Amino acid sequence: MKFGGTSVEDSPAFERLVKIVRNVHTLKASCPVVVVSAMSGVTNALLASVGQATTGDPEGAIHSLEPQWERHLAVAQALTRESAAIRVLLQTAKQEISDLLRATAAETMPRPLLQDLIVSYGERLSAALLAAVLRQASLPAQHVDARRCIITNGEHGRAEPLQSETSRRTRAELDSLIVAEKIPVLGGFVGATVDGTTTTLGRGGSDYTAALLGAALAANEVQIWTDVTGVLTADPRLVSQARTITRLSYAEAAELAYFGAKVLHPKTIQPAMEQRIPVRICNAREPAAAGTIVCSDTELSPRTVKAIAHKTGITIVQVTSARMLGAYGFLHAIFEVFNRHRTAIDIVTTSEVSVSLSLDDTSKLTAIVNELKQLGAVRVEHNQAIICIVGEGLRATPGIAARIFNCLSDINVSLISHGASSVNVTFVVEEKNVRTAISRLHATFFEHNAAEIGEAAVA
Ligand code: ADP
Ligand code: ASP
Ligand code: MG
Repeated sequence: MKFGGTSVEDSPAFERLVKIVRNVHTLKASCPVVVVSAMSGVTNALLASVGQATTGDPEGAIHSLEPQWERHLAVAQALTRESAAIRVLLQTAKQEISDLLRATAAETMPRPLLQDLIVSYGERLSAALLAAVLRQASLPAQHVDARRCIITNGEHGRAEPLQSETSRRTRAELDSLIVAEKIPVLGGFVGATVDGTTTTLGRGGSDYTAALLGAALAANEVQIWTDVTGVLTADPRLVSQARTITRLSYAEAAELAYFGAKVLHPKTIQPAMEQRIPVRICNAREPAAAGTIVCSDTELSPRTVKAIAHKTGITIVQVTSARMLGAYGFLHAIFEVFNRHRTAIDIVTTSEVSVSLSLDDTSKLTAIVNELKQLGAVRVEHNQAIICIVGEGLRATPGIAARIFNCLSDINVSLISHGASSVNVTFVVEEKNVRTAISRLHATFFEHNAAEIGEAAVA
C-alpha cells in the first residue's frame, strides 16, 4: 500500500490513512506493507533549499525548511504519544540537513550526492512519523529504513534498482516482520548503493518503490493510494469531465505513465508486470471506490480508446542530410550521440533525408546538437508537447486515426507515430495547443453517446 504526499499532508490525511490500513490489516486479515511519500510539498522545499544553498545562502536555506518541520511536529502532537521522540528525530534531522546544506554551499562533496542525502529526509521522516501514528492507533507498525531494501546503482537523482539484490535484501528485512504480523512502514523514493550511499529513484519514485517491494515479496496486489479515483480518461487538471477507467492492461498503463499520466511513475508497471501482480490505483479520500485495476487481461470493449495522456516541455531535434539517402549506419550514428550523453528519446520519425526525435531531458542538448552537426543540418524546436492516445487493439481498429486528426484539423501536428506496442498513437503539437487538443480529443472519444462510439469503432 503506497500513500502519496497528499495522503500524508496533514493530521486529517494521516487519520484517513490509518482507517485504510486498519481496514486491510484487521478486517481483511491481510499483511500490508506500507510505503509512504514525503508529506506534500516537502520534497519541493528540500530541493529548493539545495538550490538556495548552491547560490551561497545556506543559512537562508536552513531557515526556509522550518515550516516543514512544524508540520511534522503538529501531526506528531495531534496523533501520537511519541511526540517527544519525534521531536528528537526532527532535531537530529535538522542538524544533519544544516551540515549538508553548508557542505552544499562550500562544495565539499559532489552536489548530486548531497542533494540525494538532503531530499531523502522527506520520506525518512514521513515514514517514521506514520509508523508512530499507526502504533498509536494500535496497529503493529515498524519503521524500516528503505535504504536497507532498495539497492540501486550510483546514478544520483535517477538511480536504477538492482532487482535481484533488492529482492534479496527486501526479503531479508521484511519476511520476519510479516511473519510476526507486523506492518513494515518504508519511505518511498529513497534507496542506497551496495556500499550504503544514499540515492533516489527520480521524482514521483515512491510508486516505483511500492512495485519493487511488491515484486520482491510476491504481493497479492500493489495499491497506489492517491488524490484521484484511479487513472482517469485524461489529466483532470485539463479536462474536468475526465472519468475513472475501471480496467487497464499493463501495456496501456505503462504507455500512459510514460507519456505523462502523473498518477503513476513510469517505471511502476514493469516489476508488477513481470510477476503478474495487479496494481490498483485508489483514492484515499474515497476509499470505498474500486478505482482502477491494472492487470494482464484486456477488457474486451468496443470503446477502443481508453485514455489520453500528454507530456509538456518536449524538445524536437531534426537532423537533415542528403547523406541519409540509400545509406546505412546513419540512424546508428545519431542514436550513438544520444547514448553517449545518456539522453532518452521518446518518439522517432524518419523521412528519406531527415530524422526527427523528441526529448524530455535537455540538460545535455548543447553538446548533443554540436555533435549532431557533424552528421547534418540540425533544427531544434522547444515548447512542444506529446499527446498519447492509448487503448489495446487501436491498431486493428479502422477509423481511429481519422477521428483523431479530424478533430485537430486546424492544429499543426507532427511526429505522428503509431506505437510499436500497438496500444498507442502518439504525436506532437505545440505546447500552447495542448489544452485545446486534449479537450477536443476527450470530447470526441468520451463525451459522446457510448453506443455511437462503439458503432463507429466497429464500423
Ligand atoms: P501522489 O502524490 O499521490 O503520488 P501525484 O500528484 O503524483 O500523486 O499523482 C496524482 C495526480 O496525477 C492527480 O492529482 C492528477 O492531477 C494527475 N494526473 C495526470 N494525469 C492523470 C490521469 N490520466 N489520471 C489520474 N490522474 C492524473
Ligand atoms: N517525494 C518524492 C517526490 O515528490 C517521491 C514521491 O512522492 O513519489 O517526487
Ligand atoms: Mg506521484
